[in-house]
Amino acid sequence: TRMDRVYFDPDKNAVCVEAGSQVLNVYERMYRTWGVTIPAGTCFQVGVGGHVSGGGWGLLCRQMGLVVDHLYGVEVVCVGADGTATVKVATREPNDPNRDLWWAHTGGGGGNFGVVTRFWFRSPGATGTNPAKLLPQPPAEVLLHATAWPWAEMTKDRFARLVKNFGDWHTKNIKSGTVNDNLTSVLWLNHKSAGYIGLVTQVDATVPDAQKILDDYLGAITAGLDVANEPMTTPMGEVAAMPQLAGPPRMPWLQAARYIGTTNPTLNDPTFRSDFKSAYYRKTMPTAHIDEFYRHLTRDDLVNPTAAVQV
Ligand SMILES: Cc1cc2nc3c(=O)[nH]c(=O)nc-3n(C[C@H](O)[C@H](O)[C@H](O)COP(=O)(O)OP(=O)(O)OC[C@H]3O[C@@H](n4cnc5c(N)ncnc54)[C@H](O)[C@@H]3O)c2cc1C
Repeated sequence: TRMDRVYFDPDKNAVCVEAGSQVLNVYERMYRTWGVTIPAGTCFQVGVGGHVSGGGWGLLCRQMGLVVDHLYGVEVVCVGADGTATVKVATREPNDPNRDLWWAHTGGGGGNFGVVTRFWFRSPGATGTNPAKLLPQPPAEVLLHATAWPWAEMTKDRFARLVKNFGDWHTKNIKSGTVNDNLTSVLWLNHKSAGYIGLVTQVDATVPDAQKILDDYLGAITAGLDVANEPMTTPMGEVAAMPQLAGPPRMPWLQAARYIGTTNPTLNDPTFRSDFKSAYYRKTMPTAHIDEFYRHLTRDDLVNPTAAVQV
């Protein structure tokens, strides 16, 4: 699509993103132009049309919230009961008669209320008319870490321990206001045919003791696990093998976003087709869910190394 412009709209005093944009274009344009971003997802060619409407989760979300926390308004082509298409603009302003339509696009999912043509972004409480101050600034640099555990040593109990540790840390850290806001992490529970389970973590490298924040986190995730973690030498779900992230390297944020988003064998294979389903957990997943993850991820009748539960 050519509807992929990202520009400042003085009428709305917000950064406008046309609905055909892909997340990496949005990152590039917002950051290079104003030094700001939205905390969107990792894979470069995810379209904002479905992504924003569904909430939008990414590697800055524990620091900045979801994408829709910064959504000021939407422009939507809606069809009325009489079959007439009209363009509606809906914002989060309390007195906006279309406010419900804006709200519907803060997690209601794509394709449910009309065709979105534009999104406008401005963080709540942002003041002034300088776009550089209307959205959050990403960290100048991040630590990007990747590690993995071999399925060969992953008993059912160890698997449950790892997933529970991950859930417990996030439940404990659900409230913002601590140093742990600076860390966001993804656990890749791959099918056993992938060989490994992986963990990718990004930490704001500009905060004091960033390495300690990461080390403490890894300590909590591996507590009582009894299986050594290794560099990530195989692909995980949609991301590539990243053994060089065992360090972890410190790199500019945009470079990290480009790296995670584009060095991606699944996304870069034009013959590949995939199906994704998402949901939000607010606390540790129940044991019954963990058991079901384990049952399906260790099935022998399915051999698909890219099948994964990503938490
Ligand atoms: C490889 C990959 C990686 C992902 N990574 C992340 C991630 O890191 N974080 C995250 O939160 N999510 C992630 N997702 C999930 C992603 O946010 C959703 O799949 C999202 O729906 C993709 O939107 P799309 O517009 O690209 O997809 P499409 O399949 O084109 O659209 C999805 C739905 O939205 C509708 N839709 C699309 N555009 C519009 C529009 N302009 N107006 C109205 N409805 C529209 C479509 O009709 C469809 O129902 C990922 C998905 C994939 C495939």
